[in-house]
Amino acid sequence: MCGIVAYIGPREAYPIVLKGLKRLEYRGYDSSGVALLNKGLKVYKKKGKVAELEDSLIGKDLHANTGMGHTRWATHGEPSDRNAHPHTSANGKLAMIHNGIIENYTQLKQELTKKGYKFHSDTDTEVLLNFIQDIQEHNECGLEEALRIALKRVVGAYVIILLDHDNPDTIIAARKGSPLVIGVGKGEHFLASDASPIIEYTKEVVYVNDYELAIIKADELVLKNLGNEKLTPFIQKLDLELAAIEKGGYDHFMLKEIFEQPATIFDCLRGRLDVAAGTITMAGVQKNIEKLTSANRIVMVACGTSWHAGLVAEYVFEELCRIPVEVEYASEFRYRNPVVREGDVIFAISQSGETADTIVAIEKAKENGAFIFGVVNVVGSSIARVSHAGAYTHAGPEIGVASTKAFTAQLAVLIMIALKIAWEKGTIDQQRYNHLLQELHEIPEKVAEALRHDDEIKRIANKYKDAQDFLYLGRGYNFPIALEGALKMKEISYIHAEGYPAAEMKHGPIALVDKDLPVVFVATKDSYHEKIISNIQEIKARKGMVLAVISEGDETITGMADDIMIVPEADELVAPLLSVIPMQLLSYHVGIAKNLDVDKPRNLAKSVTVE
Ligand code: GLU
Repeated sequence: MCGIVAYIGPREAYPIVLKGLKRLEYRGYDSSGVALLNKGLKVYKKKGKVAELEDSLIGKDLHANTGMGHTRWATHGEPSDRNAHPHTSANGKLAMIHNGIIENYTQLKQELTKKGYKFHSDTDTEVLLNFIQDIQEHNECGLEEALRIALKRVVGAYVIILLDHDNPDTIIAARKGSPLVIGVGKGEHFLASDASPIIEYTKEVVYVNDYELAIIKADELVLKNLGNEKLTPFIQKLDLELAAIEKGGYDHFMLKEIFEQPATIFDCLRGRLDVAAGTITMAGVQKNIEKLTSANRIVMVACGTSWHAGLVAEYVFEELCRIPVEVEYASEFRYRNPVVREGDVIFAISQSGETADTIVAIEKAKENGAFIFGVVNVVGSSIARVSHAGAYTHAGPEIGVASTKAFTAQLAVLIMIALKIAWEKGTIDQQRYNHLLQELHEIPEKVAEALRHDDEIKRIANKYKDAQDFLYLGRGYNFPIALEGALKMKEISYIHAEGYPAAEMKHGPIALVDKDLPVVFVATKDSYHEKIISNIQEIKARKGMVLAVISEGDETITGMADDIMIVPEADELVAPLLSVIPMQLLSYHVGIAKNLDVDKPRNLAKSVTVE
C-alpha cells in the first residue's frame, strides 16, 4: 500500500507532489510527508491525512524543483509523526520513501545497532535507509552503487525513492514487488505508484519492472538492472483521462463509482459480447482456448471482494463448463503447499493487479506448471504481466477504498469467459447460450434501474444505522453476494456484519437472532426461491428484522419482510450483478448516516501491496 510520488524538472515540486498525494491517498492515509531538495534537504511530515500535512505547511518556504511525497499505510510502527515517511539517514544526507515491507529488517537493524546507529522510528524503511548509508560510507561509493549492493541483501517488497543532498539534480528509485510508474515529460520526470498523479502533465510513461533501478534527472532517464547493465526504457502511452479520477459532482468516489456501474459494465461487455452474432470475443481466451477447455480444474485465487467474485465464478463455471473449481484466498494458497499441476488453470482476480499475496500465489503456481489467467482492472499492472494470458475488466480507475464497480466488472468478465469456454467445450446448448448472452447484454440497463431505488435504500439505511450487528444471508449465486454485502457494511460503517449461506444459519448464527438484529436476505427470484422464503419465515418466527433484496414484483417476500430493496428480474446466473447494487448502496448510506469517511475507511487501504 502507500502512495509515493516525486518530481524533478523546472516546475515547483511541492504543488505537484501534494496534488499527487491527494490522488494516491486511497492507498493509505495513516500519515503523509514530503521531502524537498533545494539548497539543502527539507523534510516535513505529519500523522493523519494529506490535508493535515498541507495545513501544517502553510507559510513555510517550500520552494524546490525536486521533491517527493508519501502517504502511508503503516505496516511497521504505529501511525505517528515520527514513523511517517520520508525518513532521513543518520548522516542527514539522504531522504527516502518506501512502499512495501523489508522482511529481514530485524537482522539488518541488529547489525546497524552494533555499529552504533540510532533509530528515530519503528519502521523497516529507516533501517534500509541507514543500511544504504552504511554501505556507501564503508565502500566509499556513490549512492547508486550502495543501493545496488543493499538491494541484493534485502528480502521483501519495495518501491523506494531516494533524494541525496549531495546530488540535487538526481532522483534514484528502485522497485521489487510494489508498483512504480515514471512519467516522461519535456525536460521533467514524474514518479508515482500509479498514473493518476501524472496524467495531467504527460501521457508518456514507463512501468518500472522488478529488480530495476531508475536514475532520473530532469532531462534524462536511465534504467538499469541490479547487475548495473543499462536497459532501454519502454515508453507507453497512457489510456486514461483526468475526468476518470475526479469526483464529477458526486459527494464521494464510492457513490460515483456505484453509479458508474451501468457504464462500466457496458464498457466491459463492449466489443466482446455480440448478441446478434452469438459471439464472445476475448483475445486472451481465444488464443488459449485449448488450455482453458481442457483444464483439469480451475482455481480462483484472490483476496477480499475479488475473492467473492471468484466464489460467484465457481458456481458459474461449474454449472456451465463442468470443470471442477476451487476458490482460494491468495494469502493461504501461497503458503500452504497446495497441489498444483500441469493442466490446472489459475484465475488471478485483482482490481489493482498489485495484490501482493495474489502475485506470489500465481508465481508459485506458474512454477508448478499451471496456466495463469489474470482478471485485473489496472492495465499493465504486475498480475497482468506475470499472467500467461488475461482479460482486463475495463472499469476505469477505482478510487473509493471499498470495491464496487471493479467487482461487477469482474463478474461480467468471468461470466463471459465461462460462457465462451462452455460454448467451445459443448457443455451448454444453443438456446441457453443465446439466452445468457441476451441476459448479460441487458445488465447495464437493469443496473441503472436498480440504482433508481437509491432513495428507498437511503431511508432503510437511516432506519437501521444504529444496529450493532447485521446478518446477511443468501443461497446459490446470491450466497457470495451475502458475503460481499456483509464485507461492505463492515468496511464502510464499522458495524459488525456476517455473511452466511441462508440454510447454514440453522447450524449456528440463528442463535444471534432477536428483535434487534437486522437480517438481510439476498432473495431474488431463482431456483432457490421457495427455500429462501422458508428461511425468511424461520427468522420472522424468532422476531428478527428482515430486509430483503427481491426481484421486482415479488409479492410473497414483500408481504413478509420489514423492508424490501428491489432489483429487476434476471436469470439467476447474472443476478449477482444486480443484487449487489442495494448491498453497496446500503453500506454507503449507513456510513454517511454515521458521518464516516466512506472513501477512506479507517485502517484500510485500496490495493494491498503488502502481505
Ligand atoms: N513498511 C513501511 C512502513 O510501515 C511502508 C508500508 C507500506 O508500504 O504500506 O512505513
